[in-house]
Amino acid sequence: MKTIIEPFRIKVVEPIRMTTRPEREQILREAGFNLFLIRAEDVLIDLLTDSGTGAMSSLQWAGMMRGDESYAGAKSWYVLQDKIRELTGFKHILPTHQGRASERILFELVGGPGKVVPNNSHFDTTRANIEHTGAKAVDLVIDEGKQPTLRHPFKGNMDLNKLETLIREVGVEHIPLVMVTVTNNSGGGQPVSLENLRAVRRICTKHKLPFFLDACRFAENAWFIKQREPGQQDRGVREIVHEMFDLADGATISAKKDGIVNIGGLLLLRDAELVRRADELLILTEGFITYGGLAGRDLEAMAQGFEEVVHEDYLQYRIRSTAYLGEKLLAAGVQIVEPPGGHAIYIDAKHFCPHIPPARFPGQALVVGLYRQAGIRSVEIGSVMFGQGGTVPSMELVRLAIPRRVYTQSHVDYVVEAIIELFGQRDQLRPLEIAAEPPSLRHFTARFREL
Ligand SMILES: *Cc1c(COP(=O)(O)O)cnc(C)c1O
Repeated sequence: MKTIIEPFRIKVVEPIRMTTRPEREQILREAGFNLFLIRAEDVLIDLLTDSGTGAMSSLQWAGMMRGDESYAGAKSWYVLQDKIRELTGFKHILPTHQGRASERILFELVGGPGKVVPNNSHFDTTRANIEHTGAKAVDLVIDEGKQPTLRHPFKGNMDLNKLETLIREVGVEHIPLVMVTVTNNSGGGQPVSLENLRAVRRICTKHKLPFFLDACRFAENAWFIKQREPGQQDRGVREIVHEMFDLADGATISAKKDGIVNIGGLLLLRDAELVRRADELLILTEGFITYGGLAGRDLEAMAQGFEEVVHEDYLQYRIRSTAYLGEKLLAAGVQIVEPPGGHAIYIDAKHFCPHIPPARFPGQALVVGLYRQAGIRSVEIGSVMFGQGGTVPSMELVRLAIPRRVYTQSHVDYVVEAIIELFGQRDQLRPLEIAAEPPSLRHFTARFREL
């Protein structure tokens, strides 16, 4: 059997609505050609992000009803704590409302002026939380990870020589911890090998530095390790996940990704003194240590989501369905970041629209074209997002992020058809200029004009 089917059947459905082309013209104009500014109900297929957009299972919804809403010591908290202890081996677990809350607590404690935090690639909220404390965030992904068409099994790996050099140059006393993001979201959702994680651990041990994971997509990363890393094929995903966490002294997690919930996060720690101080901040800004800014029902849904995400039939379907989209586009001549990552496909917009220079936003032109053509929402990761103030990013990408368990193969086939059709008429995609922009983070609210 060749077809890998969705390992679930559908019990609840949510209608989606196709708009007419004149309606979409109107919607685009009113939103200043920025798809962050349109109503979600005007989108047919929403590939803006895989964060918090997954579909919960019947057991997760059942857990929502079981949720214990006691302020302190709720039963739901112990259900979640037991599940995370079993998966990761960590004893100290702090619940937070989402990943960036874990980051804020961690870096308020260990960051500060003069500090430097290395990572393979910092996610934007991680970088922002580090820099907010006055510390510096440094990306040290391997060179292969920066070349879009180069195939490498673990393009998310940390460059070990660059890490050693950085430690020597800035000095251990200025590095509060070393972080590795699995999978590497900002680098195209590319995985990190177990060998690389072990090597980072050895370097950290040698220099007595704590090693932290940004573990938002730990299960997707473990699946890639099982598929691609020599000697890992016969191990279970749970065993690989456990080893990944065993190597670390702590982890920040957004449960909106591999927790398959709509809201939630975790901070995992080993150091008792750090736990004590983090508990204080948690109570100050999130909530008591047994709920951390979440409802009891959220804790139940998280516990069940973290169980389901390590099921191997789920992971096989998840990673295969992302690759399916990527392979169809490649076969039609659409250049993407290769190989396909875990949670998204990234189209090379420079290749898609060679007639539009970076200053006229080829990625945004493609995002607008795809919505106009087919009601599909994607997101630009290029000059709009990173080019404010004159920097020219090395890549102009459009990300198609895949929500977990939400769309079926026919939805994906529709997306493929729309992109291929658009590719045939790509000379009609229109360059854009900025009509209005805020002083920073312009991709969320900037308005454009078509030229
Ligand atoms: C989403 C994400 C975060 C932040 O999590 P939020 O829940 O959005 O606050 C941090 N790191 C990575 C790699 C992410 O993908």
